[in-house]
Amino acid sequence: MPENGPNLEQSIRLFKQAGEVLGGLVGHDLRYLLPAPIYTSHGRGCRKWDVDGNEYIDFLMGNAALILGHADEEVVTAIQAAAARGTHYGNDHPQHLQWAELVQQMVPSAERVRFTNSGTESTLLAIRLARAFTKRSRLLRLEGHYHGWHDDVVHGFDMPFQDPTCQGASPNDQRQVTCLSDGDLNQIEAVLNQQQTAAIIVEATGPSWGRAPLEPGFLTAIRDITERTGTVFILDEVISGFRFHAAGIQGIEGFLPDLSTYAKVLAGGMPGGAVAGRADIMKLMDKTGDSQHDRNQRVIHFGTFNAAPLSAAAGIVTLRRIQAGGVTETINDMGATIRASLQSALDSLGVAGHVYGEASMFHVYFETDPRRLTDISRQQDVWTRDPKRLKGMPGNLIARYQQLLRFNGVDLMSGTGGTLSTSHTQEDLDAATDAFRQTVTTLLDERLVHEI
Ligand code: PLP
Repeated sequence: MPENGPNLEQSIRLFKQAGEVLGGLVGHDLRYLLPAPIYTSHGRGCRKWDVDGNEYIDFLMGNAALILGHADEEVVTAIQAAAARGTHYGNDHPQHLQWAELVQQMVPSAERVRFTNSGTESTLLAIRLARAFTKRSRLLRLEGHYHGWHDDVVHGFDMPFQDPTCQGASPNDQRQVTCLSDGDLNQIEAVLNQQQTAAIIVEATGPSWGRAPLEPGFLTAIRDITERTGTVFILDEVISGFRFHAAGIQGIEGFLPDLSTYAKVLAGGMPGGAVAGRADIMKLMDKTGDSQHDRNQRVIHFGTFNAAPLSAAAGIVTLRRIQAGGVTETINDMGATIRASLQSALDSLGVAGHVYGEASMFHVYFETDPRRLTDISRQQDVWTRDPKRLKGMPGNLIARYQQLLRFNGVDLMSGTGGTLSTSHTQEDLDAATDAFRQTVTTLLDERLVHEI
């Protein structure tokens, strides 16, 4: 790394230009990075390059959509072949059904599938279906869990959880949304026992793609409570679906949610999402040809690009590769490898920090509270599951950590962690560990992290 970081001349120029043309400066809030966001010119495998020619080992992986890495040959060929037949029809097409059948085959709870354009649209539709099915209006959510950016789910995922996250979004009480402390089954049961709640929605990984892991048995306990109280259980598998296991976290834990939401891996790196689940709920969208029924008794769902041909093409190739076996196993093993090597880098530097995560994800927690510096136990897989603590690291530490890693040639997903693809190799993981060690050494010098 050059003395003051890599050459970012073109990136800084583009960032200035962005101030003149873009609302919000970047295309997604998480892309904001100083002195300039990464303006990618191209990617291949697990590597990508910015407009200044800097190379990155990529752990963002298209916000966890690219399970096969950048520009996978088979995916690109399928997209090119689909594009040559027309980029968009506005009609259904045979690949739409093939894509849905793959989801059905891979996910036992997916009796029916409906495609959307994103994870946000998927959770929006699932919540609407649950309200229509139960004829109840309340929604129960858990603090720290992220489900996209529409009004029902926008408050309560970011610290401090009780403060509104977003100007202009109607408050939770107006929307009949209750947001409870993550993990408190007694409180959840007490609310659901009142039988006024249409649905509970839970991030299958735990808050923010597993940054705060769930207690073992939590999801199956929710399944029991929702069954007893007639509440729809919406499992948000936007991150974990087809990544943690071919059947997602529900496949690992062996239960059937009522509805599941998908995006990311589902569409193989193209835009796309889906709601899948019980036929009796999903059929609320069916038309019968009876105009009275079709006008007044259905859940409506439009979307110009739903099940778009290019997304279907990429999704089918990707899901078939996962269904054939080996993909999730390989990346989950790599996840364990990188977690161990980052932890050993922290240990060798004597830094109070903990590397954790499941499947193909890693997260890093740096302890900054002087009272807790000796409190980090390496014996347990996860020594705390408290989202307030795990999502509560100082913002300036996270920003500097992300910046330094970027200067050292690594791009992360969000927060402190990253996600893997089949295109990462041991050599990439070793190089990333070196970049991590250099980054943490600088953070120590700058007193942003501490020794045990
Ligand atoms: N749900 C979860 C668990 C997510 O992680 C995300 C996005 O990261 C979403 C929903 C929203 O998906 P999208 O960004 O495609 O709207």
